[in-house]
Amino acid sequence: MKSILVALAVTVAVCSGCGSASPAPVTPPPASPKPNMNLPPIVQAGTAVLRSRAEDVPAAKIGTPEFHELVKTMIATMRAAPGVGLAAPQIGVPWRLIVLEDREELLKNLTPEERRERERTPFETRVFVNPVLRPIGEEHAMFFEGCLSVKGYVGLVERSLEVEVTGLDEHGAPQTWHVKGWPARILQHEVDHLEGTLYVDRMKTRSFANADQAKALYAGKPIAEVRRMLGL
Ligand code: ZN
Repeated sequence: MKSILVALAVTVAVCSGCGSASPAPVTPPPASPKPNMNLPPIVQAGTAVLRSRAEDVPAAKIGTPEFHELVKTMIATMRAAPGVGLAAPQIGVPWRLIVLEDREELLKNLTPEERRERERTPFETRVFVNPVLRPIGEEHAMFFEGCLSVKGYVGLVERSLEVEVTGLDEHGAPQTWHVKGWPARILQHEVDHLEGTLYVDRMKTRSFANADQAKALYAGKPIAEVRRMLGL
C-alpha cells in the first residue's frame, strides 16, 4: 500500500495557460483550486507497470479509506484526461482495478450515424475490482481506439461486440455486467491493461495514425470506407 500512496501523492503541474496569447489580466484570477491539481500522472507506454500482469486487489484492502481514495483518484484522473476508462496500472498501481464511464459531452463530435455504428451511448460510472471478462457470441467489430497511455495516436482494433464481465464493485459486492457495443470495447481495452496488454498489440498496424491526422482523414466516414482506404 505504501507504494500506492506514494504514487497517489505525486502532484502534477497543470499548465492551463500554455500557448495562450492573451495579455495577463489586470487583476489576478480568483484562487479557486483546480480540480485536477493533485491527480497522479498517467504513465506512458514504455513504463514497466504497463507491461506486467496486475495483481488481484487483496480482499482486506477493499472498502478501506485508502481504497476509496484510490477509486476516487482514478475516476477524477479519467475525467480530467478526458477518457472513458482507466486501469489502475495507468497511474502506477499494479492492481486489478478499472473504472469506466461514457458521458454525453464526450460524444458530441460524433454524428448520429457514427454513434449508431459504434453502438455508443452514455453510461454511468462503473468500478470493477478483480474483473473477469468473457466474450459472448462470435460477432466482432473494428473501430479506431486510442489510449491515455499511448497519447496522441489511434489504431483500428477488432474486438468482441458483446462481453460479460464479473467482479466486485468498490464496496466488495459481486456484480456482473453483460454489455454490447462501445462499452464492451472499453471493458476489453481496460481488462487488457491488467494483463500488460496495450491496444497497439492488437491493432491493425497499417491503421496506426497520429490522432489529429486520423480525424482529418476519417472523421464522418463509415468504418467500411475507412477499411477500404487502408486496404483492411
Ligand atoms: Zn488504455
